[in-house]
Amino acid sequence: MLGLMQDWPLLCHRILDHAAVQHGGRRIFTRSVEGPIVETNYRKVRKRALKVAQRLARDGLRHGDRVATLAWNTARHLEAWYGIMGCGAVYHTINPRLFADQIVYIVNHAEDRVMLADTTFVPLLEELAPKLPSIERYVLLTDGAQLPKTSLKGAIAYEDWIGEVDGDFVWHALDENAAAGMCYTSGTTGNPKGVIYSHRSNVLHALTSSSSDMLGLSPREVVMPVVPMFHANGWSLPFTAPLAGASLVFPGSKMDGASIHELLDRFRVTCTAGVPTVWSMLLNHLEQTGGKLPYLKQMVVGGSACPRAMTQTFQDRYGVEVIHAWGMTEMSPLGSMCIPKPEVAALKGEAKLDLQTKQGRPPFLVEMKITDDAGRELPWDGKTFGRLKVRGPAVARAYFKGEGGEILDPDGFFDTGDVATIDEYGYMRITDRAKDVIKSGGEWISSIDLENLAIGHPAVAEAAVIGVAHPKWDERPLLIIVLKSGQRASKSDILGFMEGKIAKWWIPDDVVFVDKIPHTATGKIQKTTLRECFRDYRLPTAAE
Ligand code: ADP
Repeated sequence: MLGLMQDWPLLCHRILDHAAVQHGGRRIFTRSVEGPIVETNYRKVRKRALKVAQRLARDGLRHGDRVATLAWNTARHLEAWYGIMGCGAVYHTINPRLFADQIVYIVNHAEDRVMLADTTFVPLLEELAPKLPSIERYVLLTDGAQLPKTSLKGAIAYEDWIGEVDGDFVWHALDENAAAGMCYTSGTTGNPKGVIYSHRSNVLHALTSSSSDMLGLSPREVVMPVVPMFHANGWSLPFTAPLAGASLVFPGSKMDGASIHELLDRFRVTCTAGVPTVWSMLLNHLEQTGGKLPYLKQMVVGGSACPRAMTQTFQDRYGVEVIHAWGMTEMSPLGSMCIPKPEVAALKGEAKLDLQTKQGRPPFLVEMKITDDAGRELPWDGKTFGRLKVRGPAVARAYFKGEGGEILDPDGFFDTGDVATIDEYGYMRITDRAKDVIKSGGEWISSIDLENLAIGHPAVAEAAVIGVAHPKWDERPLLIIVLKSGQRASKSDILGFMEGKIAKWWIPDDVVFVDKIPHTATGKIQKTTLRECFRDYRLPTAAE
């Protein structure tokens, strides 16, 4: 017997319809790429998204065709996403921080037909355009008056492009399993691989992610997504904010501490989200200027491990609750957030910080397990670590065009490539990426734990730990440090600071000081480059 409920496909544009009807006047601010701060609301965003959809359909875009966006977080980018999805096409976000060759690779692999881009990227695109044959037209996200002179094929200002239609359009009726968006993983090994989100997976992911034990959004919140929309679906905020009716503030292209602080203050932002590097720029700014964060209630930090010292400073000095989050492009992307259950809600001080260094627990619709290399499940005791595997309706089951082959285990779990522990209450803690973990004498050392600890030293701005070949132990940890400007510290200062806080055999064998640590396009420490640089490094302990 079948249920007798309505057949109501889960389509992304229904989120925007809801926002326009229920929260139509909710304010949306953008620091525009042109400079001034501009304002819109969900009602207007929907109207303009309908024009985007109508225009794309008129330009001959068919269901499933890909439309690239190379753009900062702005309201135009938001309406473009909904317009693209609403005519059955697929938004494909491109990370401008990728190497030029990778951008060429993914645009060609995705066979994008139209490119919507901020004017910032015109010089880059002019250079790449001869290698992007699938792009039929470039739409620049600005108005006619500010359209730069360019050789890009069919270049038109976005405002003129949507200005040629009236918005009298009905969202296309689609299967909820139809593709809605795509995003390539940054491909630290091999070529980037395309993850394809469906309307259904995006809607389900937004529903669970906006709930109170995840992002906890509501119409009473003002949300600023600092995490770029080109980074793993913008951590779902372009879906969760309108779904919940929250007000939005988009930072555009300016992510420096002063610009972010100005928006947090001026628009009384209550909730924001981004990677640790952005928050350390904000902290530096606050420390230099004596600035405060009177309105901000919660800050979601993920993408790489949030250092304990950062959590402590934001909470103790600025009164902002830090929420550690973990996820990945293949998971739409949110996989877990660290919000207390009653069992741990009473924790205070150091014990609370211990909990907060964990990446948290998954919401409904994400299942997790940890296994050994043979695929056997490991206990949830907070100590045993193993490969972290996940499954759920917003987790990838394959990559675009079958790249990478079969990616699920026989039970349908996807191997995240992370190594983690899970404690008795279900809180997961990433100890490392499988390829970064340091294998010393058959035991594993977590590079993340060492980095976290080193960064707690007052003179340290950034720390990275890699395994370096060792004749006796296979690998031993090497600590690479960037000092804060004007600060000094020696190897023995740093190691002395770490002693007693971790097992003795985890203490790095050496410390090197550098001016800069390389980062990937998504703001993570580029361990592959570091391993390459220090491949022939001889540890002082190697002669023992
Ligand atoms: P990339 O393309 O750079 O891999 P993703 O955003 O998909 O971009 O990266 C996902 C990975 O980032 C995870 O598998 C994990 O290794 C790392 N990561 C994300 N959040 C955290 C976190 N809070 N702590 C530690 N690592 C994290």
